[in-house]
Amino acid sequence: MRPDCDIAIIGAGPAGSVIAKFLHDAGMAVTVLEAETFPRFVIGESLLPNCMNVLERAGLLDAVTDAGFQFKNGAVFECGPQYMSIDFRQNFEPSACWGTTFQVKRARFDQILAAETARAGVDIRFGHRVTSAQLADGDCRLGFTDENGNPGELRAGFVVDASGYGRVLPRMLGLARPGKSIERRALFTHMRDHITDPGYDREKILITMHPTRHEIWYWLIPFSDGTSSVGAIYPDNDPAFVGMSDQEIFNQLINDTRLGSLLAKAEPIRDLNSIAGYSAQSENLFGDGYVLLGNSAGFLDPVFSSGVTIALHSAELAAKALIARHNRKSVDWNLDFADPLSKGVDTFRAYVDAWYDGRLQTIIFNQPDDDSQLKRMVVSILAGYAWNMENPLVAKTERYLEMLHDLCAPSS
Ligand SMILES: Cc1cc2nc3c(=O)[nH]c(=O)nc-3n(C[C@H](O)[C@H](O)[C@H](O)COP(=O)(O)OP(=O)(O)OC[C@H]3O[C@@H](n4cnc5c(N)ncnc54)[C@H](O)[C@@H]3O)c2cc1C
Repeated sequence: MRPDCDIAIIGAGPAGSVIAKFLHDAGMAVTVLEAETFPRFVIGESLLPNCMNVLERAGLLDAVTDAGFQFKNGAVFECGPQYMSIDFRQNFEPSACWGTTFQVKRARFDQILAAETARAGVDIRFGHRVTSAQLADGDCRLGFTDENGNPGELRAGFVVDASGYGRVLPRMLGLARPGKSIERRALFTHMRDHITDPGYDREKILITMHPTRHEIWYWLIPFSDGTSSVGAIYPDNDPAFVGMSDQEIFNQLINDTRLGSLLAKAEPIRDLNSIAGYSAQSENLFGDGYVLLGNSAGFLDPVFSSGVTIALHSAELAAKALIARHNRKSVDWNLDFADPLSKGVDTFRAYVDAWYDGRLQTIIFNQPDDDSQLKRMVVSILAGYAWNMENPLVAKTERYLEMLHDLCAPSS
């Protein structure tokens, strides 16, 4: 029996839409099964410039640019009196690479990517939740329930799992593993921010560290409509917060920092959300008849806003491999997909570890106030360029992090 399509994709988030568009443009028949109807809320609102390169190559950038999202050109880090403003345009990449990006409400961003992909001709079925999978390269079957609860089956030559936090195949195949870092918890909401402070730079994400507990940090992500995403990350089950409600913890954490005064007039426009145990990984990134993308493959940590960038990078790498397979060229999924993807993820992981052990915070607040190549190399990683082996901070991450830390640490 002939399959219904060449490739079935689970999930129409950024990873799913972008790979669908690449594959469709290469002449493949693609069907996307998406459990929700769009727009739907997802966290992950601050993009990195490296996203723009992938969106551009996928032919999706114009639709994003036309949407009027908040322009973003960098990040500001604050901890008590310490302050550092980083401009992503001062990076180490060739000048053709993007140094700016957007901060986006994901409901709208994801809807735009999916709509543009569907407009190009991809069959995206919303309200279709994948419930089972039989996988063998060339003959895969996905069981689903549709928006009316009716069961159905889709046959495909190959399955791409872009199901994000759903982690459909890792769960079904027993590949899901907890992340390597300690369990952290995020509390977040959207606010009409009413920020009037003239020193506040809406073109940058603001990352604030707790003044005394440096493993606790916050994001403030302004949008273009006078609202902002506000979130706090702290160790899950922290004894300091026993007996307190989420709202009490959130209020106390915000008021421990300058965010308390910056957001003094802010009004919440969403209920407070919480998410814990978000750090995850998978035993394999591919197997017989399937590949895992984005959050389905794993998620590190929100601190450098790397999630969507990794999702898009994984989508482009997998698209190249699947197009080669379609053109009857041999594909080595380790060499062509897993190894190159892991290189960038490992770079981000080293940065995340260095953030929580304090080394990166030392580097950020004490870096020389100049335009040195070394500084540009750091900025490049923060801008999402974690795969460029020309950057010594990618090629030899740990060695250079140590060196930078020694260089920047205030002498005692
Ligand atoms: C607290 C926090 C803050 C974050 N902040 C940022 C940030 O500022 N910037 C950033 O880049 N990243 C951030 N992230 C990470 C970001 O949320 C993810 O990395 C990103 O959304 C991954 O995209 P994706 O396409 O892999 O999955 P998703 O965006 O999750 O999309 C997956 C899709 O699959 C669908 N799906 C799930 N199950 C099924 C099923 N059974 N059948 C069919 N469809 C299904 C879902 O409905 C969804 O639409 C943050 C994460 C956390 C936890």
